[in-house]
Parts: sequence; structure tokens; C-alpha cells
Amino acid sequence: MNADALLELQLADTAIDQLRYRLGHLPEVLACKETAAELEVWNKRAAALRQQIVDFEAAMEVTEKQTAVLSSQRDRLEKQLKTVISPREAEALMHEIETLSSQRSVLDDAELGAMESVAANEAELDSHSEAHDDLRAKAHAASEVGDAAIAAAEADLAQRCAARDLLRSALEAAVLDRYDSLRSQFGGVGVAKLNGLRCEGCHLDLSRGEVDAIKRAEADEIPECPNCGRLLVR
Ligand SMILES: [Zn+2]
Repeated sequence: MNADALLELQLADTAIDQLRYRLGHLPEVLACKETAAELEVWNKRAAALRQQIVDFEAAMEVTEKQTAVLSSQRDRLEKQLKTVISPREAEALMHEIETLSSQRSVLDDAELGAMESVAANEAELDSHSEAHDDLRAKAHAASEVGDAAIAAAEADLAQRCAARDLLRSALEAAVLDRYDSLRSQFGGVGVAKLNGLRCEGCHLDLSRGEVDAIKRAEADEIPECPNCGRLLVR
């Protein structure tokens, strides 16, 4: 078993695992998501403002129709008032006219309120439209930067995978099987270097006796770390 080739394969696989993790957490991609979320918030606000304008305008239309009905009723009563002689009848008519007038004034206030709300919504839409354009441009730029960062990381990954496959092709199938099962058993790192007394896989020190036994092992044999069970490369 070629211990150095196995260790080299382990380092290549570790680098690939780290790159895969980074690929899922690229700052350029996170920035792009943030900008997109900001844009989404504004789009929702703008849609709500536009919907409110539609609703206010519909309410104003209803109010205008009601106002027209009240006005024609009042006109009719005012004409009638000119023709009545009985003071009691005149008083009743005047009272009715007064009621219509106060109803009309409530409608006028409502219409004015709706008009002011429409104007306020339009002003908010206007004041944000420039910021909105900036935000859209920012989101577009961020998405291009994010795509470029992904493409670069993927190209790097493909290159590293090809180099790793080359390393694998130089190793025997039985060794690769053991390596693969150790890697899945030990969270990606199945082969570690013995550095002095320390296993670089579990970062624990071996005893002098254990290290001596490992050093005495046959050259083609790869001993296991007595602490973690990883293959130890001398
Ligand atoms: Zn160990």
C-alpha cells in the first residue's frame, strides 16, 4: 500500500470537501440573496401602494355617485320649497334639506380624505422610484457577480476532482474501498499523518510505545491510530 499516495488522496479530498462547503456559502451569493430580498420588500410595498390607490379611487367613484343622488334630491326639495305656502310644510322641507346637506358634507369629507390618501401614496411611489431603480441595478449587478463566483468555484472544483481521480486511478481497488469506508466513518478524514507523537486525525498524542510499534510496522503496511482508528501515515 502506498501510504504517501493515500495521504495525498486524503488531502485532495479534504480540499474538495472544503471547496464544496464554500460553494454553498459564497459571500457573493449571500450578498446577491440579500439584495434580492431588499428588492422583494420594496416590490411588495409598491404593489400595496398601487392597490390602495385603486381601492381609494373606487371608493371615490362610489362617493361621487352618492353625492350626485343627494344633490339632485336637494335640488328637487329646494324647488318644492319655493312653491309651498304652509309654514309647517316649509319647515319640514327645510329640515329635510338640512339633513341632505349634512349627509353631503360627510361624503365630501370622505372624498377629500380619499383624494389625500391617493396623493400621499403617489408621492411615496414617486419618491421611491429612483431608489427602486438603483436597487434593481444593484440586484442585477449582484446576481452577475454571484454567478461569476459560482462559475469560478465550480471550475476550480472540476479541476480538483479531475486531479483527485488521477490519484485514485493509481491506487488499488481494495485500498480505495478501505479508504472510502474510513472516510465515511470518520467524517471525511480517514487517513492522517503521524506528526511526532500526534495523530493529525484526532489530534491526540500516542504513547512512545505505540509510536515505536507503528514505526516498526512493515513498510507496505499502514497502521491504525490506537485512539481514533484512522490509518496513520508515518
Ligand atoms: Zn487518531
